[in-house]
Amino acid sequence: MSSRGTFQIKIRDKELICLFCQHDEFQHREVYMDLSPLDEIVKEQLTLQSFYCTSCGDVRMFQEKNRFDHTLQKYVSIIEYMEVIKE
Ligand SMILES: [Zn+2]
Repeated sequence: MSSRGTFQIKIRDKELICLFCQHDEFQHREVYMDLSPLDEIVKEQLTLQSFYCTSCGDVRMFQEKNRFDHTLQKYVSIIEYMEVIKE
């Protein structure tokens, strides 16, 4: 998924709305977070999809998950991106 541009986002068919200002347009970035369990050297990496409200800058983060789409007969991401085209 391209991370440029502004998007309206749906998570499991529910529209993502900024909790702070109720805006519905976000910029997307993929974020990698190192998990270091206590007393362990081995690191696990968590991939998060982060969405920045273009109005107030509030950030929401979701871990990518898949669901089975019965129409397409395959697994698809629960996150849908609809690019907002600016004139
Ligand atoms: Zn906002």
